[in-house]
This record gives sequence, structure tokens and C-alpha cells, in this order.
Amino acid sequence: MQGCKETLDNTFSLISKMDNKGAVASYIPELAKINPDQFGVCISTINGETHTAGDAQTKFSIQSIAKVLSLSLALSKIGDTLWTRMDFEPSGNAFNSLVQLESEQGIPRNPLINAGAIVICDILCDLYKNPKKELLQYIRKVSGIKDLTYNEVIAMSEKRTGHRNYALVHFLKSFHNINNDCDKVIDLYFHLCSIEMTCVEVAYTFGFLANNGKQLGTNIKIVSPSQSRRINAIMQTCGFYDEAGEFAYKVGLPGKSGVGGGIIALLPNQYTIATWSPKLNKKGNSYRGMKFLELFTDETQNTVF
Ligand code: GLN
Repeated sequence: MQGCKETLDNTFSLISKMDNKGAVASYIPELAKINPDQFGVCISTINGETHTAGDAQTKFSIQSIAKVLSLSLALSKIGDTLWTRMDFEPSGNAFNSLVQLESEQGIPRNPLINAGAIVICDILCDLYKNPKKELLQYIRKVSGIKDLTYNEVIAMSEKRTGHRNYALVHFLKSFHNINNDCDKVIDLYFHLCSIEMTCVEVAYTFGFLANNGKQLGTNIKIVSPSQSRRINAIMQTCGFYDEAGEFAYKVGLPGKSGVGGGIIALLPNQYTIATWSPKLNKKGNSYRGMKFLELFTDETQNTVF
């Protein structure tokens, strides 16, 4: 049986030799400028090992991966009251879809689709006078990156072209599921999505979800053990939108993707693994990231490293 590092290296080298199919996200103009051939992975184990391959130290736009952090913050603040504003069911629809909101009276299916993440941003606007600052401080704390900032260029780029997200926030407001000013809420959402990290940073940041809610290394409580289990359940069932079933079947781990080409996945009590490759498949998930994780989990078979 190969060790953790060897499995990571071998899987990385096999996937690197395969076709790099798909296309980078271009609906956010700033994301279209990325070099599509970059590819990085990082695994962080509960017992403190970190191994990387490829472009694991290059910052990329984590986009929707950050929705897990806004969910963690909101859930740790208001607990299960959160579920009066949204559900925790898979949507089976694209991340930016509006279709279910009409028949479901403005209650988003889950917090990881755009509609749900926008309602989470509204909850943060309810909770804080300066939600942008508080959210950033929270992400700095969880990631341990003291000088982390929003990428204003990416946030503004999405602001100019994010018409579906504007439609979503106004549609939600028409059902009285947005309490604050729509512009304030959507501005927070665009900033949340503009966060950048490397694979190494992503793997560390989400370590608390593999560690019963406690930050790796420091054991600081980020969420309670049961909240950590629930967030993992939501990632498992909703983290890949209309490809959630496929990811669950092929990879079998709770995970979350972003249109910047990143994926975080984790095996509770074992490890977190971050991948980044900017070309996306038709469902908006990283083509090589999905392939890598499928092969990696096949090779490791839930091994305890
Ligand atoms: N900011 C992106 C959007 O709202 C996030 C989508 C994603 O990463 N899947 O469209």
C-alpha cells in the first residue's frame, strides 16, 4: 500500500497527462484571464501531514467554496433558526438557477446554491453593522491568513456582469426572504466570492470540518461537532449542484466546488484535500479536479494515513 505522498504524486502525474478538457469561467470577465493549464493539489491530514503537487502555492479565486465559510459563520451564530430561511435539500439545478424559487415561495433549496448563499449574506447583514469586515475577520481567523483581503477587482468584475445574482436577490426580496437592502446584500455576496487562496491554504482552512469543528493544529472551536457533521452532510448532498450525485458516486466525500476551478473535499477524521484546475465541465465544476479526486479516492480506499 502506497503512503499518502506517493498516492498524491502518482495520481497527480497520471491526471496531468490526460486531456485538460472544458473551459474557464468567462461570465466573470476577470476569471477568463487565467492560464487554464495550471493544476495544483494539496492534502492536509488530521495528524499534521501536508503534501502538495503542482501549482499548490498559487492563489486562485475560491468563489463558491467560500459559501461553506459564510454558512459556518451563520450557523455558529444563529444555529438551527437558519433553517427557517432555507432548506437543506439538493437542488438538482444549476448553481445560479431561479426556477425553484417561484414554486417554493422564495425558500432556497440549500445554502450552497447562489440563492441560499445570498440569503446567508442577508443573515450576516442582520447580525452585523459591518458584515463585510466581520466576514473577512472570520475568514482570516479560520484560515489563519492574517493579511487576507477581498479581491476588489474580481468582486467588481462580477458586480458588472452578475445579472442573475441581482435577479436572485430581488426575487428573494419579493418573497420577503431578504431583510436588508438588496445592493448591500449582493455586494457582500460578490466580496465573499472574491476571496483568493492557494490549495495549501484551502486544505488547511477547511481542516475544521475533518476535525469535528476544531481548527487544525490549534484545536480552536470554529463550529460545534454536530454543526460540522451537518455542514459535511450539506456539502455531500449539495456541494456540486446538479452534479452532486455524480460527485458523491464517483468520489464519495463531502466537497464543494467553485467556478474559479477549485474543489475542497474531505474525509472526516482523516484529511482534507484541495484541488485547483481552472477548466470547468458543463456543470461548472473543475474537469481535472473531479478526475483527480475520483482516482485519488479509488487508490486510497478510505485508508487511514
Ligand atoms: N460568484 C459566482 C456566482 O455567483 C460563484 C459561483 C460558483 O463558484 N459556482 O456565479
